[in-house]
Amino acid sequence: MKIGFIGLGNMGLPMAINLVKAGHEVTGFDLVDSQLKAFTTAGGKVVANANAAAQDVEVLISMLPASKHVEGLYLGEHGLLAHANPRTLLVDCSTISPKVAQTVAAAAKAKGFSMIDAPVSGGTAGAQAGTLTFMVGGDPADLERARPLLEKMGKNIFYAGSSGAGQTIKVCNNMLLGIQMLGTSEALRLGIANGLDPKVLSDIMAKSSGRNWALELYNPCPGVMDNVPSSKGYAGGFGVDLMLKDLGLAVENAENLDADVPLGKMARALYEAHSQSGNGQLDFSSVFHLKKTS
Ligand code: NAD
Repeated sequence: MKIGFIGLGNMGLPMAINLVKAGHEVTGFDLVDSQLKAFTTAGGKVVANANAAAQDVEVLISMLPASKHVEGLYLGEHGLLAHANPRTLLVDCSTISPKVAQTVAAAAKAKGFSMIDAPVSGGTAGAQAGTLTFMVGGDPADLERARPLLEKMGKNIFYAGSSGAGQTIKVCNNMLLGIQMLGTSEALRLGIANGLDPKVLSDIMAKSSGRNWALELYNPCPGVMDNVPSSKGYAGGFGVDLMLKDLGLAVENAENLDADVPLGKMARALYEAHSQSGNGQLDFSSVFHLKKTS
């Protein structure tokens, strides 16, 4: 299949490489040269702009940082909806506001395109291993068109509901993840302050009722686990500022619905303080080193 892939960052690059490895012809575009070079080295083709990546492809996948990037890519006179072939299936895997996902999908539909929101969970390790979870919003028939490709990048592919539903689930999931990472860090710091070995502490909590994804698969304490950002200077992974964006989406969504998310609000304030101390580009598990808050 001919595929266009826009956004070859920490997630997009390994996802696009998995499509190349599966034998697809993938044309990629990113704003950063080093990402383009890495994609070329892995056998991908690169082009000079997003519209060129969307030419003559059956499926166009985007994996961008936030809502404004997705709006910028698809909408407006220079956007993809004005230039691509409406037979191209559009798949946005970025984590963005459910409302923006609905707006962009409706604009796509008005121009004759089919579009699904397909945000992912599983981190950069899941993107590399091709074991991501996809949560898809839109028409179920469009998910079936995309499924053979999603299966090359992920292990669990869920239909969430109508347009934007994938994003709503992703926002709920990441609010929980952000809170979990803070709680896990806090428990580890308390144990360490008591003189405990963080590995022993982690191993025991992982077999007790405190077990969770952050503790077991993405431990925030350096040296406890190999191959996670905490053991690589918090480089790569899922940035603090991206987590902050997702907590902002959760709080905004809750406020629109008059829903109560006190822990989500507190988590957002703590990640914001951490970002403002100069850590915005580090992996979000670096909140383990959050400065004393009281
Ligand atoms: P990233 O910042 O590493 O990558 C985003 C890429 O998009 C960058 O390389 C940037 O240059 C590129 N880009 C931005 N605007 C562009 C444009 N107009 N045209 C082409 N390229 C453009 O971010 P990431 O970690 O890969 O995350 C991407 C999305 O996936 C985000 O929405 C994030 O919330 C979500 N996500 C990330 C993770 C993770 O663990 N990193 C996990 C799940 C979901």
